[in-house]
Amino acid sequence: MISLKCPDVLLDSLENGHMVIDDKFRVSYWNRWLAINTQISKEEIIGKSLEKFYPDLNYKVLHRKIKTALTINTPTFYDANSSTKFISINRNKVTTSSLSLMQQQVTISPYLLHENKVMVSIYDISELYETKLSLRKEIAKVNKLNDALEADQEIIDKNIMMMKTSLDAVIIDISTYFCEFLEYKKKDLIGKNVSLFKSGDMPDVTYKELWDTIKSKKSWCGEVKNKTASGTTKWVQSRVTPILDEKGEIIEFSAVYHDITNAKLLAELYITDPLTKLYNRAHFDDTINSITKHQRKADIDFALAITDIDHFKSINDTYGHQVGDDALIAIANTLKNALRENDLIARWGGEEFVIMLKNVSLDEAKIIIEKVRASVEGTKVNNSINVTASFGLTKYIIGEDTHKTFKRVDDALYEAKRSGRNRVIVK
Ligand code: GH3
Ligand code: MG
Ligand code: MG
Repeated sequence: MISLKCPDVLLDSLENGHMVIDDKFRVSYWNRWLAINTQISKEEIIGKSLEKFYPDLNYKVLHRKIKTALTINTPTFYDANSSTKFISINRNKVTTSSLSLMQQQVTISPYLLHENKVMVSIYDISELYETKLSLRKEIAKVNKLNDALEADQEIIDKNIMMMKTSLDAVIIDISTYFCEFLEYKKKDLIGKNVSLFKSGDMPDVTYKELWDTIKSKKSWCGEVKNKTASGTTKWVQSRVTPILDEKGEIIEFSAVYHDITNAKLLAELYITDPLTKLYNRAHFDDTINSITKHQRKADIDFALAITDIDHFKSINDTYGHQVGDDALIAIANTLKNALRENDLIARWGGEEFVIMLKNVSLDEAKIIIEKVRASVEGTKVNNSINVTASFGLTKYIIGEDTHKTFKRVDDALYEAKRSGRNRVIVK
């Protein structure tokens, strides 16, 4: 606020507009700044009403502001924003040719030297206003970017399977698409442990490898079988990445997934015998080849058994082909149940099965296969039909061609058949 004692000279030297008017808007003082910027000289305006020079001004409002300032003896503000100027003044008329209008802040203060007069001060706030404008533009730009980002995030959320977990595997965030895949609602998963999705038939070593890798700050890629809310299993190819803070410490884990269920089903189909659901011959061949060709020689240790059902033709002939199939399924299940998880059983062809027993001596293998033979003998197909099977057994000799192993085990089986069936012969 300008002091009422300010001499005219001082007001003339200020870089703002100052005028003194009464409640009839008659001008009694007009400073130099106003004269320059409005191009209305002191001589022209002093003694005359502002209305003559600025007929568009809202005099009703101005009158009220003047009255208020005088009554409560304190400055009031005339609201002069971009659209309602107090008095139109072109910016920097003196120094530039810019015709943009000056943004003004207008205060009306009581002028105590004269009871009915007020000092109207006009401050150029154009720069402030422009800053505000450009700031508003920046904010609009940022908002637009945010909107675009949100739209992108929505696309990601609905189309990519993603999850974020804490260090102890608690779900922090999960994409809608992954929730749908696992048949859960998002709200039912946040805060839960990821072990909820464990299918139960993945080897523990896979999970251990996953945790060891990500805890050592590396990404882990691998295939995981998940259990959905309804209990079905689905396969995902997952990539789990630790997220580090600025100190390099792990703060959380983030993971992306791809549905590979169909590919997995196909691959499973490719190695499975459709009737007995045991592995097929091709898979057995692949496994034995990869063990004998790629494993370190000192680590190769297995026994090989082949079994052929006795007088199977007569089962088909007596009860029909369907019962023959039932017998094959029953015997396949008996073999699976009688053997260890680690042993490999496959349907070798027709009514023959092949068994690989890992890390056993020939004596141990003989005991196991004898037990298997007894289990087959105890199997009743369709609760009534007895079956037996003959077995050949041998041990793989390190370094030998597997054809030789198969020849030995075939000979053993042949001998088991010839010598009366329902027995195990070791070669
Ligand atoms: P042996 O004790 O000498 O083995 O007598 P066997 O009757 O079992 O003789 P063999 O092994 O030569 O006969 C195999 C029979 O198994 C012939 C074939 O009809 C039958 N078979 C092969 N595959 C299937 C199948 O998928 N389903 C059924 N029902 N029968 C099959
Ligand atoms: Mg046969
Ligand atoms: Mg047979």
